[in-house]
Amino acid sequence: MHMHPVTVFLEHSDGEDMPFQPPVECPICRETLALDRTLEEHLVGSHTPLEVARQLAARHESGGLRQVSE
Ligand SMILES: [Zn+2]
Repeated sequence: MHMHPVTVFLEHSDGEDMPFQPPVECPICRETLALDRTLEEHLVGSHTPLEVARQLAARHESGGLRQVSE
């Protein structure tokens, strides 16, 4: 009995065709965003440009070493 890849694919996608979207977590407040919201919307709506800039700067500066300070 032969199973064609096409057949497997069709069987697999039968039913729901929604792409899987993992929840997005805000890197600043660790809040899990609603699925219909983007991180950008959250950052603009919930954080000041200063907070966002600080987070980016901190990430950039600690990019090389991984120090666990928590
Ligand atoms: Zn946030």
